[in-house]
Amino acid sequence: MGSFRWAQALALSRRRNYTAGMEGETPEQQWNRLQREFLIEVQEAHPNPERAGCPDSKVLRELAARSVRFESIEDDPDWKHAVHCGPCYREYINFRDGEYQSKAAAGGE
Ligand SMILES: [Zn+2]
Repeated sequence: MGSFRWAQALALSRRRNYTAGMEGETPEQQWNRLQREFLIEVQEAHPNPERAGCPDSKVLRELAARSVRFESIEDDPDWKHAVHCGPCYREYINFRDGEYQSKAAAGGE
């Protein structure tokens, strides 16, 4: 599969027509949606039922928190694992949802 790039994920999503009919989304909404769609790809390509080489859940939670704060995580080795591991990526998405909810509850938006 080679090295991971978000541009590739975006191109893949466009090729599969995932983004059709979603006018009026904010870039943030679109980004969140694309990450969910990419989850499907990761889970299919890397089911990893043994959880081989997986970092601790708190590591994934920290990645999610950093992502919500718009910090760059793309060079993080744990992130590189997570995008090649279905269970980790799913955890990351779940944590990210939680971070967004707490941010909204704190008066964000
Ligand atoms: Zn993993």
